[in-house]
Amino acid sequence: MIQEIDKLPKIALCRKCRGTGKVQDQETLEEKVCDQCDGSGRVTVSAKMILDIRPYHPKSNNL
Ligand SMILES: [Zn+2]
Repeated sequence: MIQEIDKLPKIALCRKCRGTGKVQDQETLEEKVCDQCDGSGRVTVSAKMILDIRPYHPKSNNL
């Protein structure tokens, strides 16, 4: 049985800039607008999971 689980979008702190909205360029060390949150410091996160549930028969399944 295939079961789909939808996680609705949640607002979370942007991990790339740690909520500051800015990231430092590794080479030039210039501050840039974070491209993951577009400078807002926060992002929405949603997820979709698919569970595949099947009967388990100890004698016939090779797990
Ligand atoms: Zn960010």
